[in-house]
Order: sequence, then C-alpha cells, then structure tokens
Amino acid sequence: MKLWFLTGSQGLYGEDTLHQVAEQSRQIAGALDRALPFEVVWQPVLTDAAAIRRICLRANADEDCGGLIAWMHTFSPAKMWIAGLDALRRPLLHLHTQANRELPWSSIDMDFMNLNQAAHGDREFGYIQSRLGVPRKTVAGHVSDPAVTARVGAWARAAAGRAEVGSLKLARFGDNMRDVAVTEGDKVEAQLRFGVSVNTYGVNDLVDAVGASADTDVTALVKEYEESYIVASELRAGGERHESLRYAARIELGLRHFLDEGGFKAFTTNFEDLGGLRQLPGLAVQRLMADGYGFGGEGDWKTSVLLRTLKVMSAGLAGGTSFMEDYTYHLTPGEEVILGAHMLEVCPSIASGTPSCEIHPLSIGGREDPVRLVFDARPGPATVVGLADMGERFRLVANEIDVVTPAEPLPSLPVARAVWKPRPDLRTSAESWLTAGAPHHTVLSAAVGAEELTDFADMLGVELVLIDADTTSRRFVQELRWNQAYYRLAQGF
Ligand code: MN
Repeated sequence: MKLWFLTGSQGLYGEDTLHQVAEQSRQIAGALDRALPFEVVWQPVLTDAAAIRRICLRANADEDCGGLIAWMHTFSPAKMWIAGLDALRRPLLHLHTQANRELPWSSIDMDFMNLNQAAHGDREFGYIQSRLGVPRKTVAGHVSDPAVTARVGAWARAAAGRAEVGSLKLARFGDNMRDVAVTEGDKVEAQLRFGVSVNTYGVNDLVDAVGASADTDVTALVKEYEESYIVASELRAGGERHESLRYAARIELGLRHFLDEGGFKAFTTNFEDLGGLRQLPGLAVQRLMADGYGFGGEGDWKTSVLLRTLKVMSAGLAGGTSFMEDYTYHLTPGEEVILGAHMLEVCPSIASGTPSCEIHPLSIGGREDPVRLVFDARPGPATVVGLADMGERFRLVANEIDVVTPAEPLPSLPVARAVWKPRPDLRTSAESWLTAGAPHHTVLSAAVGAEELTDFADMLGVELVLIDADTTSRRFVQELRWNQAYYRLAQGF
C-alpha cells in the first residue's frame, strides 16, 4: 500500500512561488515517508479543479493507493476541490502543517507571509470538507514532531486495515455454533460495508486436504514444533502420544494448503461440525494466527474478519494480536481481573516466554484429545475489541485494558490465557460492555489501540464505542443513545 501526498495551491502566485511550494511539499512528503511504515508518494502541486478531480479519480482506480494526505501549502480556493472530493473514495487525512517550524521574527516580510499561509489555506480546505461532509482525519502540527507523525501513522495503519478488509476472503468450515446469537450476522451487509467475502465450505473438504499432506512434510513440521516450543515428552518422537502431534501437524498442513489455495486470509471452525477430523484444530489454528490469519471459534466470522484486519494494521509493531474470549472473573474487591482464554485457540504472538506444546482431554467436541500451545500472555497495555451486528448496523466496542501477570501460577489450566484489568475498572467496563451488546469473542491487541480503531471505524462509517480510563456508566449509556439516533439519521432512507 502507498499513500499519496497532495499539495493545494493556485496559479495566482506565479512560477517562482509555485516552485518553492513544490520544493517544500516534497520535503514534507519525504519526512512523512521516512516516519511512516508505508511509502508516501509526492504528487505535483494542484492548482486547478480539473487536475484535482483527475487525481482523485486516479486514486480511486489505483488499487495500490491506500489513502490521500492533503495539505494546503498556500491558499487553494476550495471551490476547486468540490468535484474531486465529491468523487473521492479513498481515506483522506488533512495534514495541517507548515514548512517552517519557527517564525523568522527579525526577517519576516510579506514574501514569507504569502508563501507560508497554510494557517488560513487549510481553514478554507477544512470548510469545504465540512460543507461536503467528507469523512477525514485532521492532524495539526509540524512533521518534525513525533506526536504528529504517530497520529498520521495510526491513520495509515487504519487505511491498511481498510484496504485489507476490502478484498478479504474468509472460509468458514461449517456454520455457527447452534443457537448462539452474537456470532450471527448479515454477510451481505458485511460485504457491502467492509468488502469482505464470507463463504462456507464443508468441513470434509478440509478433511480431504488434511489427508493429502505428505508424511515427509509432517515429519519436517513436527521437527519445527520441537525446535520452537517446549514440547511435552509424551508428544515427542518416541513418546507414547507422538502420533497425536503428527496428526496435529497434518491438520496444519491441510488447513494452510486449503487457505492458500483459495486465497483465504481468515477462517472459522466449529467444534460441533468436525466431520472426519480426529482432533479439534488447536495448535494449527494458533500457528496460523501467529502467521497473520484471522480466526474465530464457533463459526464466528465477524471476529475472524476483525482479527485479520488488526493483524494487518499492526504489521511490524511489537506486541501481539489474538482471538480472545472473556472467560471468568476474579471478583475480590480491589483486585478484580478478567481471565480470558478459549478452548484452545489463543495466538502465541501475545505469549510471555516460550509456549509449551501439550495434549489434554477436551470435554466438548467428542473427539481425540487435541494438541495445543499453553502460555500466559505478556503483561502490558492492550485493547480488546468486538464486532456485533445490531440488525441495522455493525457496532465495534473496544476496551482499553492492562494485561497483568496472574496472581498465582495456573498449573491445572491446560490452555493459553490472558489475565487483565479492564479500564476504568471491572464494574464500569463490564456494565458498559454488556449495555453495548458487545460480544464475548474479541480480538486482543497489544499492538494497535484506540486511535487506529477510531480511524478505521471512521473510514468505514462504522460505529465505535470506546471504554477507557475516562468512561463512566452514565455517560456511556448516553453515548449509546446519541449514537442510535446519529446512525439512524446518517443512514437516510
Ligand atoms: Mn467461544
């Protein structure tokens, strides 16, 4: 993905000034290019309506263009921007900046004033964007300020997420877990709103792929497991349950082959519908998540979409991103924490230390004991986010949290887990989460947070409510009411 840098001006200033405008805007684009995780492509200075419309249409048509950053270096009379902005279908960031950081107090003259007038040029641009109702992010400040480039970076990551979800293909093995409500949703609306294509495959198609994996590949993958994790001795070569590890490797090879063959970057499974699979996929799902694939348990395609999207948004950042489920509470006053886990499927990208690879019975599913990775999540700040279908729209709900070290070891718990303190406190967080109708399945990310999610939601016109250190139950309920009204009105008829 690339970002295009647009500079607005007008013909009135003459060749010399426009040359300076071009030089300075190249420098700003260059500074952004160095600071952002994506290439920033400088575009020639725009001085008339036809050129502006042309570049917006070109951006729409260019699959590689993830968004536009626009800056009015000088005064760009904004009626010139109407046709272009009206046609634009790419995310827009309005960068309100200036070439110079300091005012040259002793030497400033009218030439300097006329060259460096973004302070009012960008106000004209802000007006026309608001007048047209153009969704955008506005960032003010000098590009040498890391806080400025960090905010532009969050938007750029959100744009990468938007581009990914816009062409994402998701494979479901089986349907949703029977009778569960929150994992359901409107797949047609999801394709219209997000772009993602969600389709179901018979689980025995996967069983065929699992059966087709070659013994030599299985042996090589088992060797990789033994080098990457602390593998239980009963699972190691020569151990009495080694065959179970080989079968887990077979599942990974088959699943990976099926997904790659079909161009799927996200998938779901359902323990109620395993066909000829001998184990519920555990280790395979964990390793595929670690490689960036989206996953949702019990047919939860919405969480799988979200996981893949956040994986792409967080590329290159420290801190992992995983499928998660609020499981159980520690409710001692003053020490309240949530213990999150799943039957098996937590991504090792959030692990603290080297995971151990173990085999234990699983009380549900009625299959052979599944192999899984077991670990505690790394302590530190993170965000959990869930996606619910409210019938007339999608709603994202996020909660800022602090992952903590469990108060005591958990020697009898045979699954990967995360223990966290939700902000502002467990009572407010849980009451708000429940009032919002947010799901029990989430994505936990220690890499991207509120700013990236806000930018992502704004780009797609999707509701996002955030539970953070400043949340109070009363204001949160009011926000839900206001949003209800806003999103109904915004949809029109
Ligand atoms: Mn679940």
